[in-house]
Amino acid sequence: MKSNKKFDVYLGGIAYHCIKCGFCCDAPTVTKKDLANIAGYLKIPFVEVLKRYVKFFNGYIGELKEIKGKCIFLDQKTKKCKIYKVRPLVCRLRPYSVQLRNGKLTLTYDVWFLRYCRGLYLGEGRVDEEYFRYAELVLKYLGFEESVDEEEFIKAKERLLEESLKYRKNRG
Ligand code: SF4
Ligand code: SF4
Repeated sequence: MKSNKKFDVYLGGIAYHCIKCGFCCDAPTVTKKDLANIAGYLKIPFVEVLKRYVKFFNGYIGELKEIKGKCIFLDQKTKKCKIYKVRPLVCRLRPYSVQLRNGKLTLTYDVWFLRYCRGLYLGEGRVDEEYFRYAELVLKYLGFEESVDEEEFIKAKERLLEESLKYRKNRG
């Protein structure tokens, strides 16, 4: 399994290719730097970003506002991110998160994605290099999470198997 010096990688026999459905675009946690990037991209002052797009901000981290239960920057028709070039760090790291697994910092699937992401499929995946960079930054600004239970990987594989059988059946 691929890893770098800082992170192990655990994918548990599940691969990933984003189908850009926008389903995961719930309002994300944002860092101060994320908000500054958004302000620069939209060419508006930082305080204006806070006023228009941010639900709360404690000076270091915050959360974007929602519209109809989805992130304020999700175009609900096209399912595209309106600020893709400067999307927040946690959006970049999706569907992975940094977790402490068997005492080691590990890049692995976030539990929400194991349960619901439509881009997962059964197979041996690999993690693209850029994700290690994002993982470093997430670790620095937001820290790590506790390890996802192995049971979640088992359930995810059952879900993916069922979905692929259904797909094959529908195709005749
Ligand atoms: S900022 Fe963009 S990528 Fe992140 S949740 Fe919102 S719409 Fe999705
Ligand atoms: S739910 Fe999964 S497939 Fe859909 S946009 Fe999010 S990461 Fe991509």
